[in-house]
Amino acid sequence: MILKDIYPWQYDLWQRLREIRSRLPHALLLQGQPGIGKLKFANTLAQSLLCQQPDHAPCGSCQSCNWFLQNSHPDFRLLEPLDADSGAEEDATAPAKSGKKSQIGVDQVRELGDFLGLSSHRAGLRIVLLHPAETLNTASANALLKMLEEPPSGVLFLLVTHQAQRLLPTVRSRCNHIDMPLPARKAAEAWLAEQGIKQASQRLAYAGGAPLLALADDAMSAARLGELHAYLLLGAKMDPFAATALCVKDGVAEVLNRLQKWVYDVLSVLLTGQLRYHNELLQPLQGLVKQVDLNKLLDLQRSLNDARRLAQHPLNADLQLESLLIQYTQAFSTRS
Ligand SMILES: [Zn+2]
Repeated sequence: MILKDIYPWQYDLWQRLREIRSRLPHALLLQGQPGIGKLKFANTLAQSLLCQQPDHAPCGSCQSCNWFLQNSHPDFRLLEPLDADSGAEEDATAPAKSGKKSQIGVDQVRELGDFLGLSSHRAGLRIVLLHPAETLNTASANALLKMLEEPPSGVLFLLVTHQAQRLLPTVRSRCNHIDMPLPARKAAEAWLAEQGIKQASQRLAYAGGAPLLALADDAMSAARLGELHAYLLLGAKMDPFAATALCVKDGVAEVLNRLQKWVYDVLSVLLTGQLRYHNELLQPLQGLVKQVDLNKLLDLQRSLNDARRLAQHPLNADLQLESLLIQYTQAFSTRS
């Protein structure tokens, strides 16, 4: 059985967990940045532990695997924020479409009580997967804590989180922590190239080294990103209204993210000569920074951070972006 369900950068970790599969602790906290495949790993681990004939990986064909793949395994529960989009695997930064803050509610956790009280379907393991665990609120985290403090035998809790620091410390301390690996840059670039991604190196840098985020940027959006960069390179001469019209299609949260990365690199080139996200644009950025008013750019960075915090409730996306992009043009002098 090949490990088709595990990303190559997770093989070592998979192997280590496999060696201790018969004596796993009762709660594992899988932590790491978005876009590296934590949820898929946790799912595959759960499927493998429940599989009736596991080898290196879940067999994919036993009754248990069939149940699991149809989301109907009687010994498995997945807890996610109720109003989360289903495909939102690694996308913790995107606000819920409804505008409501999505949380794992206390009722969801309490309902586990019955599940944990039952004896297991096959007199084996029962598994609860919580994702993303930082969306537990105070009430649901406390309800979970009670279960973690007196864990029923034969139950494994898998908590997956992008932001472990937002978890209740008492919950954190009841779990064994596993740092999910970020792939080495070369390996991630090779993997992206295998997925048919052109300019894998650029896309990976832009995604902060997270290959699944680089993969998720669709082609349309990537093309608009190039156009946005062409606008931003105009500095004071940029038309903020045209730039807004171009990028608003990608949603406020995404545009704010792009602008934050851009301003980060402008500051970085100015102050250190290095950059992080836009490797292919070093030369034009070196030209642009000659026109920067540092204080105004730092003000803009603060405005972007504030806007990002409020991006859950964009009342008027166009106006908000326009105002930020006007502020952007004012951070540059018109001399060139
Ligand atoms: Zn199986």
